[in-house]
Amino acid sequence: MVKENLEESPEGGAARPASELAGESAPHLRMMRQRAALPRDAVRPTYAEVDLAAVGANFRVLDECADGAQVWPVLKADGYGHGAVACARALEATGARGFCVALLEEAIELHEARVRAPLLVMGGYYGSAFTEVIRRGLLPVIYDGRHVEDARRAAQALGVDRPVPVHVKVDTGMARLGVPLRELEDLILRVRDAPELRLDGLMTHFANADAAEEEATLEQLRLFAEAERAVVEAGLRPRVRHAANSAALMRGLGRFEVVRPGLAVYGVAPGGARRGEASRLRPAMRVRTEIVALRRLEVGGAVGYGSTFRAKRSTLLATVPMGYADGLWRQLSNRGALLVRGRRAPIAGVVSMDLTSIDVTDVPGVAVGDEAVVLGAATEQGSDPALTADEVAALAGAIPWEVLTSISRRVPRMYRGG
Ligand SMILES: *Cc1c(COP(=O)(O)O)cnc(C)c1O
Repeated sequence: MVKENLEESPEGGAARPASELAGESAPHLRMMRQRAALPRDAVRPTYAEVDLAAVGANFRVLDECADGAQVWPVLKADGYGHGAVACARALEATGARGFCVALLEEAIELHEARVRAPLLVMGGYYGSAFTEVIRRGLLPVIYDGRHVEDARRAAQALGVDRPVPVHVKVDTGMARLGVPLRELEDLILRVRDAPELRLDGLMTHFANADAAEEEATLEQLRLFAEAERAVVEAGLRPRVRHAANSAALMRGLGRFEVVRPGLAVYGVAPGGARRGEASRLRPAMRVRTEIVALRRLEVGGAVGYGSTFRAKRSTLLATVPMGYADGLWRQLSNRGALLVRGRRAPIAGVVSMDLTSIDVTDVPGVAVGDEAVVLGAATEQGSDPALTADEVAALAGAIPWEVLTSISRRVPRMYRGG
């Protein structure tokens, strides 16, 4: 029913109707690529509803937190599972003036979809494809003398008529990517002396922005200020500086000219966020399926692989077509719950690859075809509390970032509010 009120994927234009692909004889088949998913043709009633209005509203909350800095939402990992292209379009319409991704492939996907705001490719790994970065006008992150050479060579090969903007990443404590402070001067001089390049940005990344204590983040900020002094001494001045992820932004730390929130854009507040602003975020993803079978299990009866659930009472079991291959965590076996008719129905037995069983004994009137919510809120009045990414993560021994990015491509995304 909900399905009828939803729009199909805004990327639908890129996809051909499944019937065309499969031939008239099999009109219900669809390609399993998320990009090409046509939810109306999905056989299974399992899908993720993405509320693009919530994405836009979250952007506005973060824009207020940003204190004048430009908010460049992070769209890596397919927009944390929400669909990078759809989110980029909604965010551009709401006022986003730049985006961040991890991989070159991710930037190319957005560029091909005609997203024209600056796209910062944070991973800093372009392989032999630096020309692709420049040709498409993407913003590369560099932190190594080798990158300077690669960028120069690519710029020369393309015969660019203007210096290529680059963002230099400084390691202030994360120790993954980024130039160590003691090597910064050397790198900056190489950038300065490269006529093909222009220092557009200076950036760093926090390791502990969501921790209870701010001390570690303040120390990283001190080192970042030191880095900036070294850059200025070398005679350069970055146009923009950026450091803040969602957690830093929402606790008011490290807001420079640009901020880079990811998680909060999708409506999940990180640790350390100020309570007032955190409460204004709206989760943008709701994952739901439907009951496809019901059966009665007598006392002592078992369900699922390994028979890990045994009925202590006469138990009504419901089967839903969603499993760990869809992102319903196996760690939720005998621990998690789904919402049916507004009631929490505990997961019974182990979550298997495609199917999960839930105990619906205490759900009055339960029937085949009932909606079962895996993530998010039930629609009924007076329902049990919504299943939040935080709660699911805690039960699964994961973090909310993982819960969102784990919803697999086999689950079609349905968009509303775009
Ligand atoms: C993922 C990422 C972010 C966004 O982090 P959130 O905690 O999701 O806000 C920002 N900067 C970098 C470098 C990242 O890799």
